[in-house]
Amino acid sequence: MSKKGKAPYIGVDLGGTKILAAVISRKGKILSEAKSPTPDREGPEVVIARVVETVQQAARAAEIDPDDAAGLGIGSPGVVEAATGVVRFAPNLLHWDEVPLGRKLSEALGLPVVVGNDVDVATFGEYALGAGAGCHSVAGIFPGTGIGGALILNGKLHTGARGSAAEIGHITLLADGPVCGCGRRGCAEALASRTALERDLRAAMRFGRRTVLTDLMDAEGRIRSGALAKAAAANDLLVLEVLYRTAHYLGLLAGSIANLIDPEVIIFGGGLIEACEEWLMPTIRATAQQHFINRLDIEKVRIEVATLGDHAGVLGAAMLAQATFNNG
Ligand SMILES: [Zn+2]
Repeated sequence: MSKKGKAPYIGVDLGGTKILAAVISRKGKILSEAKSPTPDREGPEVVIARVVETVQQAARAAEIDPDDAAGLGIGSPGVVEAATGVVRFAPNLLHWDEVPLGRKLSEALGLPVVVGNDVDVATFGEYALGAGAGCHSVAGIFPGTGIGGALILNGKLHTGARGSAAEIGHITLLADGPVCGCGRRGCAEALASRTALERDLRAAMRFGRRTVLTDLMDAEGRIRSGALAKAAAANDLLVLEVLYRTAHYLGLLAGSIANLIDPEVIIFGGGLIEACEEWLMPTIRATAQQHFINRLDIEKVRIEVATLGDHAGVLGAAMLAQATFNNG
C-alpha cells in the first residue's frame, strides 16, 4: 500500500455565492472545513485562485499539506465534461467558457482532481453517505431556481454521451404549459421549481388573493422558504394550494423517472424541500406511486429527503474522488 493508502480526500463545493472546501476521511467524516465568498464576477483565474486558497485553509486546519491528500473532488455549476475536468460553461459565473478547472487545480495543488456538476456531486454524496446509502441506483431531484437532476446507475454517475444527461428539469410535463427558462413550454422547471412556485404566488397576489405571505415577505419583498413554511403552518389557502400543485408535478416527475430507470430510491433535496417537507413529500410520494407502472412493487421505490444538507457537495466531491482515484 502506498503512503497515501490511508490519506484523506479533499472535497470542494464551488457555488455561485460561496466556496466550501473540506478535508474528509475515507469513511466520510469531515476533519476540517473552510469557506470563502465566490468572486463570481471576476472571471475564472480569480475564482480558481480563491478555490486554491480555500483548500489550503481547510488543509491547514486539518494539519496536512494539500498534496498529502489522496485526491480532490470538486462540484461546479454548469455543464462539466467529466473525462477532462473542463467546465464547458456555467451561467452563474462570469466568463466561464471551456475552463480547464481540473488541470488548473491539479497543477496548483499537486494532487489528482476530479470535476463534476454540482447536482451530480451532491447526489453522489447522498448515494455514498446519505439517503441513498447502501443503494446501487439513485435519482436526485433538487427544485430550486431551476430543477437540478442527477442519476446514479449501478454505482456510477450517469453523465451521458455529452455530459448533459439527467436534465430532469427540462422533461416536458405539460405540453403547451408555461414558458421555461430554456425557451420551450411545459418543462418540469416551468411548473415545479421554486421560481415557478413564486411566479404563481405573485400572480395570485396581484389578482387580489388574500394570503398571510404579504406580511411574511422580507424587506426586499422576497419570499423565503421559511416564510412559505410559516404560511402553510397557518393554513394559508393560497400557499397550501400552490405547494400542492408543485408537489403534484414533482410527483409526476418522480413517477416518470421511476418508470425510466427503476431506482431503489429517488432523493429530493434543496432549501424548498427542507423547509416545506411536510406539505410537499406526502403528495410527491402519492402521485409518484400512482404513476409507477410496476404495480406489484409500488412500495419499493423509496422517495426520500436528502440528509446531508449543506455538506452534500463537499462530501459527494470527496467520495467521488475516492471512487475515482482509490486503487486499493
Ligand atoms: Zn425547459
